[in-house]
Amino acid sequence: MTTTASNSINPTEVARETIRQLALRRIAPTPENYSRIYGEVAGEAVAHPVVSALERALGDVVRAGGPVPSGAHALAQALKRQKWEEIEAWCRRTLTMAASAESLAWHGLVRDLLKQWELRQDGLSQGRKREALEHVLDNSRTDPAKLYQRLTALVKGWGEIPLARTQHGTLPVLERDAADPETAGLLREMLAQTIEFAVTDRLGYTPELAGDAARLALLARESGGPRDINRLGAALKSFWLKLELRGENVDGLMRGLVTLVKLLTQNIGTLTSDEWLKGQMARAEELLREPLDVRALREAEKGFRQVAYRQAAIKGGLDEAKDALKSMVGLLIERLDDLTESAGGYQDRFAAYAGQIEAAENINALSAVLGNLLADTRGAQATMKRSRDQLREARDTARAHETRVRQLESELAEVGQLIKEDQLTTVLNRRGLEEAFAVEEARSRRAGAPLSVALLDIDNFKALNDQLGHLAGDNALKHLASILRDAIRPSDVVARLGGEEFVLLLPDTAIEEAVAVMTRVQRTLTRRFFLHQNEKVLITFSAGVALLGPGEARDAAIARADSAMYRAKQSGKNQVCVAEPAVTA
Ligand code: GH3
Ligand code: MG
Ligand code: MG
Repeated sequence: MTTTASNSINPTEVARETIRQLALRRIAPTPENYSRIYGEVAGEAVAHPVVSALERALGDVVRAGGPVPSGAHALAQALKRQKWEEIEAWCRRTLTMAASAESLAWHGLVRDLLKQWELRQDGLSQGRKREALEHVLDNSRTDPAKLYQRLTALVKGWGEIPLARTQHGTLPVLERDAADPETAGLLREMLAQTIEFAVTDRLGYTPELAGDAARLALLARESGGPRDINRLGAALKSFWLKLELRGENVDGLMRGLVTLVKLLTQNIGTLTSDEWLKGQMARAEELLREPLDVRALREAEKGFRQVAYRQAAIKGGLDEAKDALKSMVGLLIERLDDLTESAGGYQDRFAAYAGQIEAAENINALSAVLGNLLADTRGAQATMKRSRDQLREARDTARAHETRVRQLESELAEVGQLIKEDQLTTVLNRRGLEEAFAVEEARSRRAGAPLSVALLDIDNFKALNDQLGHLAGDNALKHLASILRDAIRPSDVVARLGGEEFVLLLPDTAIEEAVAVMTRVQRTLTRRFFLHQNEKVLITFSAGVALLGPGEARDAAIARADSAMYRAKQSGKNQVCVAEPAVTA
């Protein structure tokens, strides 16, 4: 073999010898084989061009001074030792990593990261955020997929922490237009409307603040570039401060009022001996315990109204009884006067008789005097008896009146329920319905929310009465009332219009939902049977549902529901019909 290394060998010689070796060893004269054999002949290993390219690339990366990719050292070793399997494995790994890095949505992740970085979360300081981020970066240096996954988890975690309460002064400052003009215009209009509808309307009690809010809305609409927006931000901030101060005032007022009402209810409770009134006051006190809500206030108001009504009724009854007693006392005095008057007359006469008796000189004169005396005595006795009888009578009448006052009081003890409630079913009666309907109508018109009215009439109720008796009929009415009460929301109203007819008021309920409520009640009746002497009795009803029209009278809405109910009866009963819409004037 003439492959001895020698620097003095002439390249032409080496080339000739290389060709000779190729022919001699019957090796295909490919460029790769030529260059390998040339290396052998020249005594130096000539690298494969791919190997050289990879080595060049590695060298460039290291010389650039940037981060050295993982496995770079291993690759350099593999190239040096010509470990083809290792080189191939390295290439595969790198290609896979590059492919997966390309598939990761870095764009969105970085945007989310920035957003979360800028937000202020409860109990999460910027320092802690930085620490967490550095930890993730340190631990995922070599693997972009892992880095992506960990960063995503981190950002998601930050996003789940509640935002810190906005502090005044942390309004972001706009340095350039962030959104396109159309979106920005829409956002400004939204802000203006929020201020107008959600804020201005609620500041009726403080016209000054309401004026500020109206000006802010205007400013929001007119804000153009970043300077305007920043000016709006400053105005908003000072408005918040004022609003906060006012909020404190309103809270103070509320607390003061509640304390006053509590004092009032406590004092009325201790001053009165009226058990019912005491009960009402205790209930009002209970209701006014914090937290205060609109329903509790409504209930308390209802209680106070009942108290007022009852007081008026009792006062009327007592006045009547007092008048009767007064006239009795007058009569008594009159009779006593009569008595003393006639008694006085007899005394005078008896004194005269005594004189006559003394002066009588004979038995005839004496017997005449005695005869007169006897007649007068009898007369006096009769007068006395009459007066006594009259006094007894007066006393009895006075007692009767006293009893009447007591009875009146005990009747009135239930007056709260009697005024507005139906005694049999304890749902509202017609009067209670009228009152509740007026309240709900006003509320619905104010809020622009729908108010549905349903009217139902039990089917074949006369037959039930005839077959099972009136008492069973009454119990069936109670059963239905209790099912109705269970089926509705606390804000709904149920009333007995009379006989076997009931009305439901369903605030905030569209007509379709109202139909659904009635259908649900019908279904409940097939599950919760009315029991008469342990026998199941199926009660069904027909119902009409109407939506209170704009400007429609309450009676008109009930009449429409009634016609719809009638249609339900006509179409075979046990169904719910929707009323024709209200005719608007
Ligand atoms: P429809 O299906 O057409 O409504 O027939 P109905 O039998 O239910 O109707 P109708 O109006 O003919 O009869 C109603 C009956 O309801 C007559 C009356 O005896 C009975 N009723 C009304 N008020 C009361 C009540 O307070 N208690 C009882 N037990 N029955 C009552
Ligand atoms: Mg009926
Ligand atoms: Mg009827």
